[in-house]
Amino acid sequence: MPKITLINPPSPFLIDQRVFPPLGICYISAYLKKYGYEPKIVDLAGGKKLPEIDADIIGVSSTTPQYIESLKILGEVRGRGIDALMVIGGPHATCTPDTSKDFDISVIGEGENAMLDIAMHYPTTFSRFFKKPPPNLYMLPFPDRKAINIHCYKYFIDNEQATTMITSRGCPYNCAFCSSIYDRVRLHSAEYVINEIKEIQRLGFSGIMFFDDIFILNKTRLFKICEYLKSQSIVWRCFIRANIVSEEIIKVMAHSGCKEVGIGVETGSQKILDIINKGTTVEQNTRTIELARKYGIRSKAFIIIGLPGESKETIAETEKFLEKTKPDDSDIVPYVPYPNTPIANNPSMYDIKFNESDLRKAWFKGQPGSYSSMVSTSSLSAEEIVKARDRLEKRFKRW
Ligand code: SF4
Repeated sequence: MPKITLINPPSPFLIDQRVFPPLGICYISAYLKKYGYEPKIVDLAGGKKLPEIDADIIGVSSTTPQYIESLKILGEVRGRGIDALMVIGGPHATCTPDTSKDFDISVIGEGENAMLDIAMHYPTTFSRFFKKPPPNLYMLPFPDRKAINIHCYKYFIDNEQATTMITSRGCPYNCAFCSSIYDRVRLHSAEYVINEIKEIQRLGFSGIMFFDDIFILNKTRLFKICEYLKSQSIVWRCFIRANIVSEEIIKVMAHSGCKEVGIGVETGSQKILDIINKGTTVEQNTRTIELARKYGIRSKAFIIIGLPGESKETIAETEKFLEKTKPDDSDIVPYVPYPNTPIANNPSMYDIKFNESDLRKAWFKGQPGSYSSMVSTSSLSAEEIVKARDRLEKRFKRW
């Protein structure tokens, strides 16, 4: 049986790397254990040094901004003369063929069955790209939270210690700036979700951040989950979408302990919302923030500056939107052309220019507080985009 180590790379682009635990490799770990393997997790969040590793297979799970760190891990493993099969998985490997130049195997899509197959057939040589059908969600064990130091991830909702959960995989929308690793949308049943919440409670948490792309996709399921959350006085937070929210949904959420919602507003300009195929309107975003306020739920607006077509006028519209709607908080970031997204694949179809020929550098937006922009539009230079972002953040960042 091969020795397997799963690594979570550091995320130096985050203000605090010890907030949300790396659930992706916790899922892989639990799945491998279900089939009798004994993987170890090395969690490098916060910039910890790579420890001694004795493994036949090393799996690195990487988002796009983490990829630079993943390459450093690869270099260190090779530099130490460790003769392990180096596997990269996660969103970045799925969205770009680039990783196959560096790692022995790139796992495309959901990694559970791929890692199991690699472990079962080790040391057979596999193709450099490896994709297996996604697992049936009802067969998935809960993420192996006990394999990491889950309590060193500090996240609080209304003073209650909280942790993350993912209750669905995939998103039915196609925003032109977004990369998704899922082929289709699948939701865990309400019963499965409630059982996982119970496990989280046993671990000592009384707050939950639902990390699904959109938590409210299925109203019947949502209401069943809300009923349990209410019965347990759990406080929680999730991401919602303005075009499918209703007053009924917000009311049930509020009465079951929801304290905060994140909303992918992106911009206050309808022109840009249409360009990026967001499928929402400025009015819907406005109403969602108002509804949340009406029922005592804090709202956080996620805003991107520098999307295709961005101009002084559209930035003024975003500023006006934030002024008028007054979300409790906002997260304002420069646009990053993530790989394999409609905009990154077809920049000539958009009013956007990538100013960095090596897109690997463009994927790393910089340290918090000193962001840079790798794009410009016909109206705004990269410097103007960063300046506008900084100005808006100064005005509207609250928490
Ligand atoms: S930005 Fe959100 S709503 Fe749009 S495709 Fe991505 S996950 Fe789905």
